[in-house]
Amino acid sequence: MQETGHPRAPKGKTLKVALLGCGNVGSQVARILLQDAPALAARTGATLALTGIAVRDLEAPRDAQLPRELFTTDAAALVREADIVIELMGGIEPARTLILTAIEHGACVVTGNKALLAADGPTLYEKADAAGVQLSYEAAVAGAIPILRPIRDSLAGDRISRVLGIVNGTTNFILDQMDSTGAQFQDALAEAQRLGYAEADPSADVGGADAAAKAAILASLSFHTRFALENVHYEGITSVSAADVAAAKEAGYVIKLLAIAEKLPIPGASAPATETEPAVSGALAGSGSPEGVSVRVHPTLLPREHPLAAVHGAFNAVFIEAESAGELMFYGQGAGGTATASAVLGDVVSAARRLVLGGPGRTETTTGHVPALGIEAVTTSYYIGLEVADQPGVLARIAQLFAEHQVSIETIRQTIHRPAVPGSADRDAQPGFAELRIVTHRASEASLAATVRAVKELDVIHRVSSVLRVEGI
Ligand code: NAP
Repeated sequence: MQETGHPRAPKGKTLKVALLGCGNVGSQVARILLQDAPALAARTGATLALTGIAVRDLEAPRDAQLPRELFTTDAAALVREADIVIELMGGIEPARTLILTAIEHGACVVTGNKALLAADGPTLYEKADAAGVQLSYEAAVAGAIPILRPIRDSLAGDRISRVLGIVNGTTNFILDQMDSTGAQFQDALAEAQRLGYAEADPSADVGGADAAAKAAILASLSFHTRFALENVHYEGITSVSAADVAAAKEAGYVIKLLAIAEKLPIPGASAPATETEPAVSGALAGSGSPEGVSVRVHPTLLPREHPLAAVHGAFNAVFIEAESAGELMFYGQGAGGTATASAVLGDVVSAARRLVLGGPGRTETTTGHVPALGIEAVTTSYYIGLEVADQPGVLARIAQLFAEHQVSIETIRQTIHRPAVPGSADRDAQPGFAELRIVTHRASEASLAATVRAVKELDVIHRVSSVLRVEGI
């Protein structure tokens, strides 16, 4: 059916749209804005007029479909005249200053800049709230996947208890390669770079910082409290070895880099943490004890039957546990110019509708005031890899040490390694070592750390090869 005009739109309204950046995402946003102008007008009730595209280099080769006269290097002038500003330049400056200028001039802002939101999000959100303008950033987390608006709007009447996300396609591609081919990290990274899934400098991806920026955004919206990057404990995947991946696989697990935001009891607290939003603090939510929120990113073992274990290649997914809705999963492309442009355009349509229909600019609540918890507040299961002397009594000594530190063992697997010695017929008589793979029941970070320290002191331990957290069991 052909789309006709919006029934409540003032006839003939035109909204000026300024686009900052014309790279992977910006070029696709410009193309769709121009190609789909009639449909976008029908959906919003206003003509979305692309007034200019700010770039650094006017001479750089561009998509031939985009009119040359739209390009400018004067981003500030473009911003001052706009009703909607789409920031797709990336980086901190001048993106930050241009967004602040847009807000001061009463424009709605759409951005995909997770690095900027992680660095200075609270300032931008507060300025937008104060000015009554909409600041949207669906593209900043999990690319094309509609995840922020469902959390902010569709689940606004529910209580989210936990969010688990695969929000970095590069690391998911690398870990998936390691799992399916047995490759070492460096080889899987080289393959990701060859295929364009990893940048020449992959440190923000493989070090966990990119996922941490997204975790802060997911946690802020899920728990109605602004969390910054400094509230996120993050670890990357550079120390995950092919042996870890193989051992996890053998035991029925897959290793994923997960962004996790979850409500947890505040260790040692007995009084309600806040009365502002008691349901979130947990005081009246049935748990009886005050709660905070742990936000973290780390390589994690997941049972292979967990829905997130089936997320392969560079795809992203976010798994949400909510009190009434139960378990929800959102899956799709986490990056790519055209896919990400879809999320940007969704925000542009939402901003345009608001400008046409009026109404409050505030689109998220920050009334939770839930304290951020450090990694030491987390209790989870752990996977520990040990290389130990192959001699009687070792297993018993290790099990006793775990028990002394209140860490209870769920499973333990032992593999004996005895290298063949040339000229020796009796291989069993050769000295070797035992590889132990231990999965614990839930234990606190502090207990686990103390256990690992004590284990390292034992004279029969050759090395602790890995310590990884386990979720979903
Ligand atoms: P990109 O390909 O590097 O494009 C950046 C664009 O911004 C270029 O057109 C560049 O101009 C322009 N630009 C940069 N600095 C500028 C300045 N100082 N003044 C004027 N123009 C400037 O970036 P992208 O991949 O499209 O990403 C854009 C944003 O979307 C980033 O914040 C990114 O994190 C986010 N994002 C990207 C993806 C994705 O799949 N790519 C997914 C989700 C979110 P020139 O062309 O003249 O150099």
